[in-house]
Amino acid sequence: MSSRCQAEIRTVLGFEQCDTRIDLMADKTINHWIDGKASEKTAERYGEVYNPATGEVQAKVALATPAQVDEAVESAWQASQSWRHVSIAKRTKIMFAFRQLVDKHQHEIARLLTLEHGKVTADALGEVNRGLEVIEFACGIADLAKGEYSENVSTEVDSYSIRQPLGVVAGITPFNFPAMVPMWMYPLAIACGNTFVLKPSERDPSCANFCAQLLADAGLPPGVFNVVHGDKVAVDRLLEHPKISAISFVGSTPIAQYIYETGTRNGKRVQALGGAKNHMIVLPDADMELAADAAVSAGYGSAGERCMAISVLVAVGNAADKLIPLMQERIGKLKVSDGFEAGAEMGPLINKAHRDKVAGYVDKGVAEGATLVADGRTLRVPGREAGFFLGPCLFDNVKPNMQIYKDEIFGPVLSVTRVATYDDAIQMINGNPYANGVAIFTNDGGAARKFQHEVEVGMVGINVPIPVPMSYYSFGGWKASLFGDLHIYGPDGVKFYTRTKAVTSRWPDPRHRGVNLGFPTNN
Ligand code: NAD
Repeated sequence: MSSRCQAEIRTVLGFEQCDTRIDLMADKTINHWIDGKASEKTAERYGEVYNPATGEVQAKVALATPAQVDEAVESAWQASQSWRHVSIAKRTKIMFAFRQLVDKHQHEIARLLTLEHGKVTADALGEVNRGLEVIEFACGIADLAKGEYSENVSTEVDSYSIRQPLGVVAGITPFNFPAMVPMWMYPLAIACGNTFVLKPSERDPSCANFCAQLLADAGLPPGVFNVVHGDKVAVDRLLEHPKISAISFVGSTPIAQYIYETGTRNGKRVQALGGAKNHMIVLPDADMELAADAAVSAGYGSAGERCMAISVLVAVGNAADKLIPLMQERIGKLKVSDGFEAGAEMGPLINKAHRDKVAGYVDKGVAEGATLVADGRTLRVPGREAGFFLGPCLFDNVKPNMQIYKDEIFGPVLSVTRVATYDDAIQMINGNPYANGVAIFTNDGGAARKFQHEVEVGMVGINVPIPVPMSYYSFGGWKASLFGDLHIYGPDGVKFYTRTKAVTSRWPDPRHRGVNLGFPTNN
């Protein structure tokens, strides 16, 4: 990256001091983005932002007070008074320009992701590209937000529906996709005519400011997109703020439930996506090499910190006997290191507390009697000894009553459960409270079709381990993986970020004069 580019990024992020290397930025401050610029005010509280690969604090992030949240919401509210009147043509142009800028700067965005989240460069670029697809979908707002029209519903009476924005919408997002998950929300919300306040994860906050600058460069008026950094204090103020109409949340299940209950109690429209425990069934007829590739990729990609990661492999019949040696072979070759290192396949976990919690689950699994086939607890990454690394861990003989089966571990820990039949497998999956993603591996089309029909999970893969829907479908789990009625982005996203108004219209005609207290009937 050129030094000019690095300087640009530092300016964009609101860092107070300059450094020659973006990845060695101790004592830098990330501030809120309000009214089209990084705030210059000193915050009352700050959080620490780590480089997970080195274990060092590399920046501090402002943690908003309720008053600072109010400032951002007020800016969004003021902007909404004019933004809702901006034509579809102008909104579309801005979205196209933003799309071009994200594409152009994808390597800088990816670099920020690796710096603060730890994911490897290729994975970070993949995240940006999945986010880009949602921006591209939002570029089609002219077609997406069309209403309906019925002529002559009654004699010379027409009826039609129009989709209008809600006003100010808030987005609260998790640490594991600092670029993509916010992009599931704000491009579509803004294209629909809303203004937006984003509260990103305080653990990897820089990407939000970077994208805020790109939106401004794309021509978005000040106040249409704002970022408040913070923790529960900021979230609680967003949940109760009278000028916020709707909230999109993505994060863990307990917080998703809290957001849904509190937000709806305060009269807001809420969609709250929660945690996951994704199963992958392997039937005995499956291509075992393909299934082993898929299980290892989907289990350990992004160090298992994906809501669509496979965490339970349900091996039917004798499938486990064939699969486990193939998986061990692949696990043994995985390169775990600093995400910037060439060839790195898996990076560190987000912070020390989470790394230790995940390692604690491995201890628990051993104590519960599961067979630990691959143990990543002893992994040391040369030159990165203080990083938050944990190697890939694989358990066999995991039972549904074990804690390692029940809890979302959110790390590189994959459990294999052995069942005798397909029916046992589907019963196990449908009995699990989480229902985000699921996959089946088989060469039997009939079995796959039966599975897609019977499984009670929101997103299903057939020989595809991470079935994240395209941007023109919607993303969402069932049961404890989503609170609310509508999934996120895609057609459901348009419904979520607009409300319909039905108009019945008759142009004055002398024939209709005269008082008539009877109920209007269609004729
Ligand atoms: P998290 O629930 O801890 O945090 C999510 C957001 O909520 C953050 O912005 C955080 O600041 C805020 N928050 C945290 N505690 C809060 C509290 N007590 N009150 C109010 N707000 C609070 O989640 P995380 O650890 O950042 O992310 C990982 C989780 O997100 C996993 O459970 C993962 O499965 C889930 N996730 C789900 C999806 C999905 O689409 N279903 C996608 C990505 C991540």
